[in-house]
Amino acid sequence: MTLFILSILMAGVTGLYVARPILARRAALLADVTPGEVQDADMRRTAALASLSEIEYEFLAGKLDETDYAELRRKLSREALSAIDRADALRTRRESESSLQCCEYRNPPGSRFCGGCGEPLLAADE
Ligand SMILES: [Zn+2]
Repeated sequence: MTLFILSILMAGVTGLYVARPILARRAALLADVTPGEVQDADMRRTAALASLSEIEYEFLAGKLDETDYAELRRKLSREALSAIDRADALRTRRESESSLQCCEYRNPPGSRFCGGCGEPLLAADE
């Protein structure tokens, strides 16, 4: 009986040891998920672009008159452009915040060594 319990315990420990890299990788992937603000701006852009193509079809089908079409098109274009600008600004800000500064050289995100002086940078993922 003791041998049986011991073998189950060994199998459990071995299984955890084997699965550890997989579990660690999953945590790293979750930390990489796009933040809500960027995702929100992307969704607004997608919705505005979809609406733009929809009003284009409706105009071509004769369901919208030219003044309504022009007004809607101008409004939706402005929405799409502002959403694109917002997403770009957020991405740029996030990139500059996550880049690593060493000496005078600003290293891109994920760098392990400084591109300016060659010093090893802090390994954030280990
Ligand atoms: Zn450096």
